[in-house]
Amino acid sequence: MKKYTHAWLAFMAIKRLQYADIPEANRDDAQSLVKWFHDYRDFVIEGSWYPDEVFKDMATSHIIKYKPSQEIREQRFKKLPKTMNLYALGQKSGLYGKPFIIEAGNCADRCESIAHSIIDCFKILRTEERGNPIATTGNHIAMRFFILSHYIADCHMPLHCDSRSFSSGSNIHGFIESQWDNQVKKSYSIDTANNRFHYDPQGYPLHLKPTPLIEAVEDELMKREYQHSWGTGNSNTWDYMSAISEYSYLMAYRLIPEGYNDENLTKEVFKATEAYQHFDEYSQYILSDAIDSIARVWLHVWARYRNWAKGK
Ligand SMILES: [Zn+2]
Repeated sequence: MKKYTHAWLAFMAIKRLQYADIPEANRDDAQSLVKWFHDYRDFVIEGSWYPDEVFKDMATSHIIKYKPSQEIREQRFKKLPKTMNLYALGQKSGLYGKPFIIEAGNCADRCESIAHSIIDCFKILRTEERGNPIATTGNHIAMRFFILSHYIADCHMPLHCDSRSFSSGSNIHGFIESQWDNQVKKSYSIDTANNRFHYDPQGYPLHLKPTPLIEAVEDELMKREYQHSWGTGNSNTWDYMSAISEYSYLMAYRLIPEGYNDENLTKEVFKATEAYQHFDEYSQYILSDAIDSIARVWLHVWARYRNWAKGK
């Protein structure tokens, strides 16, 4: 995904934690996290773009590349919270339950390790005296949260979980991501000189005239039930992100059916496919699930730190 899409997804995750109906058991954690984020919102664009701009680990950590396998056996797919669009849609996919192999990538591992490092940083921050050179800072930790959101979001981009390449030739991968980024740029007022959004009175990206897709995502995220659970059988960020990548792979084949490759999939051919008629609908599923996932992973991280601080 591209720069402003990443920043927008992270920001919408904060907004969701503030305005969605968060279950009683998680409400206090959510509210305190939103309050904490408020001081660091100016870093969202910089932090969530850091992996592409500085780390440049795109070929390994922004992806998990799946490929259908020819083996005749059943494949057990992981589960996700029932509120996830990708989960509902994936189970109807022709590839669901069929074997796959993973050819490259470690996005889930990256997410797990950053999640741990954030909790570690908080523990160091709380343990060391202010000004101690080994102590970290709130700014640094906020950057890590936004960096984490990048990898979570990338895992939701179906083509990041598909071993087929659509990045050369007509670069349909880039074309899809540009469509999303253009919509974000059109929908919000961005202070490009200072690399941040302009804010509305509530402190969220200021609307220009949101496109129907952006409006639909914002709307869905405020209404969708928040489930804190990772989904049955999953017990940590790694399990959860691995599950996401499986359904993201299924989504890739829904978006671009079998038989296409870099050579034969031009923009014109893509736009003429049956799947492309559903492009806005699929985009809404992908983007709103990405926001939901960022909120879920962040809140788990924050709650683990808070429980540690409370001595639980
Ligand atoms: Zn990326």
